[in-house]
Amino acid sequence: MEFLLGRSLKNNLYNLELESSVRDVLKEWNFNLEDIYEIESDAGLGNGGLGRLAACFMDSLATLNYPAMGFSIRYDYGLFKQRIVDNQQVELPDHWLDTGETWMIPRSDKNFKIKLGGTIHEEWQDGKLRIIHDNATTIDANPYDVMISGAGSEGVSVLRLWKASASLDFDMKSFTQGDYMRAMRSDNEAEIISKVLYPSDDHDQGKQLRLSQQYFLVSASLQSIIKDHLKAYPSLKNLPDVAAIHINDTHPALAVPELMRLLVDVYNFDWDTAWDIVTRTIAYTNHTVLAEALEKWNEPLVFSLLPRIHSIIREINRRFTDDMRARNIEGSKIDHMSIISRGVVKMANLSVIGSHKVNGVSALHSDIIKNSIFADFNAIWPEKFTNVTNGIAHRRWLCQSNPDLTSFLSSLIGDGFKTDAAELEKLLKYTTDKTVLAQVNKIKQQNKYDFANYIKKTTGFTLNPESRIDTQIKRLHEYKRQLLNVLKIIKIYLELQEDPNKQVTPQTFIFGAKAAGGYYHAKRVISLINCISADIQKNPKIKEKLDVMFVENYNVSKAEHLYPASEVSEQISLAGKEASGTSNMKFMINGAVTLGTIDGANVEIMESVGNDNIFTFGMTADEVERVWHHGYYATNIFASNPEIRKIVDALKNGFAGESFADIANYLVLGSHNIADPYMCLADYGDYLRAHYDMDKAYSDKNLWAKMSLVNIAKAGIFSSDRSISDYANNIWNMKRLKSKKPTK
Ligand SMILES: *Cc1c(COP(=O)(O)O)cnc(C)c1O
Repeated sequence: MEFLLGRSLKNNLYNLELESSVRDVLKEWNFNLEDIYEIESDAGLGNGGLGRLAACFMDSLATLNYPAMGFSIRYDYGLFKQRIVDNQQVELPDHWLDTGETWMIPRSDKNFKIKLGGTIHEEWQDGKLRIIHDNATTIDANPYDVMISGAGSEGVSVLRLWKASASLDFDMKSFTQGDYMRAMRSDNEAEIISKVLYPSDDHDQGKQLRLSQQYFLVSASLQSIIKDHLKAYPSLKNLPDVAAIHINDTHPALAVPELMRLLVDVYNFDWDTAWDIVTRTIAYTNHTVLAEALEKWNEPLVFSLLPRIHSIIREINRRFTDDMRARNIEGSKIDHMSIISRGVVKMANLSVIGSHKVNGVSALHSDIIKNSIFADFNAIWPEKFTNVTNGIAHRRWLCQSNPDLTSFLSSLIGDGFKTDAAELEKLLKYTTDKTVLAQVNKIKQQNKYDFANYIKKTTGFTLNPESRIDTQIKRLHEYKRQLLNVLKIIKIYLELQEDPNKQVTPQTFIFGAKAAGGYYHAKRVISLINCISADIQKNPKIKEKLDVMFVENYNVSKAEHLYPASEVSEQISLAGKEASGTSNMKFMINGAVTLGTIDGANVEIMESVGNDNIFTFGMTADEVERVWHHGYYATNIFASNPEIRKIVDALKNGFAGESFADIANYLVLGSHNIADPYMCLADYGDYLRAHYDMDKAYSDKNLWAKMSLVNIAKAGIFSSDRSISDYANNIWNMKRLKSKKPTK
């Protein structure tokens, strides 16, 4: 459902090795290539990490010559634009198509029809029982292809985006009956399906339009895959041998029943053969264990919108539960694993049952899903569960966005790391080389100056490039605990108010985060950050030592400016809740040092760089479970810690004239006597300890540069090239196409 591509021009010029010639030509015309880049709108067809992962994968697939297509929706409006007005988030529509359309090739030869609503009945035709779908609304799916080039290869990944329009077939009926208004209305009803991306990250809203989008995407994409397959092979029998369909979280989980429908109803397969084809073709990646993010649909909604899909899901579920009973599995477990229960359709269970492989996105997360949400499935099908740790397109996030660091690395170890990130390890031999370490510091310093200039020019904000840049950029979500970072900042702020001459490392805390429109608490945290920032701007003496900046409208392009300038990477989710994280990897490869909990891929980063080159703190995932189980008593922590009491009082008194008593209450008392479920106060003490450990290390420039270089050197395994090889080898059973060496 999501591909958070960002901009394409720079990526394509880089991959085609055209950047320097284009730069030269533009110079003759007095244009600066960087200014041209800034004109392009981000393709914001995703919310955050999940959508950005899919975009990174497209890059790696093309670069490594794996033939691949991505499928999504040609949303007229991508993720909303964020403005901060009076310290509050305001959402504005994202008109990305103004420049986004440039990259699209309409494929009007490849339209498909999608049916929604109506009723089904069975009929005997030519000695066969047929499913007849009556009174459905037919919608056209029109494809627009975006080509994504690979680096140093001839590979191209195609992203096919479907636009919804009213089907002429359908409207003609209303027209001929003279019902012009009804025909016009159906036009709008169809187009609304590809109108806008749902702006919730890790949260399911259960809305009918969202289900229509999911089915629209899945049905069009499967029809397209089948048509291509039948051009090359006489039947769909060998589909699993030559194709792999991967679902990115459960958003496209309807692929399971829809592929069954196409095989059984359209291509006349018997159920068992069809089921074998489906389950050998489809694989599923789980992205979260948060209960509020697990997709569930009310059965009556599925029944009314997708009557045939509903009947197929029921049949899959009937056969599954029969099988479980035959294996003597306990009734309560069967109920827990079943797809339909108590009037809801559980998409995660459908995805596990319909897939041959299920993976989590970091070693820790893959372990957690086997022992929690999918424990019962794991007991039956242990071989189904595996891990593929996330990765990042390091060419975009290092080579393209941090050119000075990249050319320095090339001067040390050659260019091999650009297509084989494992070669970054060659940098390890320089970790005691004083001149190299000084140069690492110098490049970071220059990037900080460049970033400060960019911020000044684009926002007017004055950022001190001599201060330490400590950054937390990601969606705003309680589990990610931006609030914990804020508590630390308030502590430092209060100390400086008490003693403005206190010796501290000058530091700037940067936040960038969008909150889902209806997520009240997240929006309050955005206000809090902005109010603290506004307060500090009124006090120049404090601003010299402690500053806070909120970057408006955080997106891929802003991110590309932020990582090269950052020195501290804040990755402070409650352990067990962040499935992987990928910003942690982008920071690392740009030489920032992680200050983080033992969560998601932070665990693998820690193993990779060693304990000396990361600052970890807080409860482990197991400890979190234990504390939560025995009861989390925030009031006790509050009562016994005078520092926390001061911070809570400061929240009540407020910043920039606004009280945050609601957040103070949330932290200590919560609602229904349950305080903050992400237990900020429980990790607060150890977070401060780790912050000051980091602060101490930072005061030794040479030591810091060494840590920074080790982080860069050890980032190779977090390239999405590695993730894609894992998927190809362990899940898709897919080989690289031979690449002709591009001729120069
Ligand atoms: C990488 C990235 C993310 C994911 O960040 P996490 O910290 O891993 O949640 C989200 N949004 C954008 C724009 C990104 O580039």
